[in-house]
Amino acid sequence: MDMTNFKKNDIFEAEVLDLTHEGQGVVKVDSYPFFVDNALPGERIKMRVLKVGKSFGFGRVDEFISQSEHRTTQLNLDYLRTGIADFGHLTYNEQVKFKQKQVVDILRKTAGKEDFPVSPVIESIKTIKYRNKAQIPVQMVNGILTTGFYRKNSHSLIPVEDFYIQHPEIDAVVLFLRDEFRKINLQAYDEKTRKGWLRNIVVRRGFHTSEMMVSLVVTSKKLPENVDLVIDKLVEHFTNIKSVQLNINNGTGSFILGKEFVLLYGKDFITDLMLDKTYQISAPAFYQVNTPQAEKLYETAFEFAELKPGDIVIDAYSGIGTIGISMADRVAEVYGMEVVPAAVENAKRNAQLNELENTHYEVGTAEKIMPKWLDEGIKPDVIFVDPPRKGLDETFIKSATATNPRRIVYISCNPATFARDVVRFENEGYILDKVQPVDLFPQTHHVEIVALLTSKK
Ligand code: SAH
Repeated sequence: MDMTNFKKNDIFEAEVLDLTHEGQGVVKVDSYPFFVDNALPGERIKMRVLKVGKSFGFGRVDEFISQSEHRTTQLNLDYLRTGIADFGHLTYNEQVKFKQKQVVDILRKTAGKEDFPVSPVIESIKTIKYRNKAQIPVQMVNGILTTGFYRKNSHSLIPVEDFYIQHPEIDAVVLFLRDEFRKINLQAYDEKTRKGWLRNIVVRRGFHTSEMMVSLVVTSKKLPENVDLVIDKLVEHFTNIKSVQLNINNGTGSFILGKEFVLLYGKDFITDLMLDKTYQISAPAFYQVNTPQAEKLYETAFEFAELKPGDIVIDAYSGIGTIGISMADRVAEVYGMEVVPAAVENAKRNAQLNELENTHYEVGTAEKIMPKWLDEGIKPDVIFVDPPRKGLDETFIKSATATNPRRIVYISCNPATFARDVVRFENEGYILDKVQPVDLFPQTHHVEIVALLTSKK
């Protein structure tokens, strides 16, 4: 098809054929695909062309001719346009079916597995208001300090008051700060002029303890006039706030957090529980955002591991130590590595808080520490890996499998890199045995899985 046949603002009537893994509807006009927000498979739409590229284009729905029975209007459209809840127009039942199918499809495409028996998704107990963390951008909109979310693929702010997928008390903190900051005429940061102080409000709330941490991402340590009074009011109003910090970010990149934190109130951590163990969590450390689902994820991981009392276990990408600490009293030794120093400090402290003496943590990348441990003669029986979206490194896989651990339990937040790594593990003598998706992120396209790889030897 010659793409010059399509122009911006052309209108076609078409049926939506499929959904991309990021939740856009797929429409084909003369076999040329368009990706369309807020369009579901089976729907007939009048589509307006937004953009025409070499091999695909983008369109938007001008009018629905028919709508899917799986469409829901639980979340409003403005909110969907932020891309934060890109599955919010699909019923929950269909969301989880789609996620399961996506894992089956990617294992076929990338790892050559015909219809791998991926288990049905473990559904989330809560499908809205579940997140224990929020990072909310702040901007001046028509001269008024405003909190909300960015429009998809942009930095233009859509004001949001009910954030739907995060704990309502987090919304309340954000609105409280917004209103108090308006009263003192605080200026939000402007990306164009690089003026203004406040960039983001980050809130974390312990699911089991309700303790909250508030971080204000700002351009400098110097507090503008009256901000200290707002903080006083905030902690007086929300007595479960245990930590207020500044995070200094004067950069122009897209990173939300800068390196430096400054404590304004309380301690530099909050405490929460997971699977009845206690954890201190500091601001730079990763912590799963859907706590009850993460607990199910870990329980599935332990079931897959079939731990034995004499086992040496590696908890790779250990964060604040949650996976290793949850199971440490069932095994002989736990070794964890993690690249964020503050998270490793938390992990060491958390092992003490839970009265464990068989855990060992090191700061560094998994791909550097794993070969080092191999040289030092550490021989794991079971390895848990829980990497970020980019998945595992070849070096890591080679050294992790060198001493032939019995089982490898792979927790992944990205099925694409997971499927790639499955092939690498197969090349080292491992078999993919089980794959269990767990829904940690309702209303979004994100898929979390836990998988079992067993040694052939
Ligand atoms: N297992 C923990 C953390 C998982 S998130 C939990 O369940 O909470 C992934 C973690 O990997 C993050 O803490 C991140 O800081 C860390 N990380 C990212 N790249 C890494 C690398 N190359 N080596 C080691 N850790 C890394």
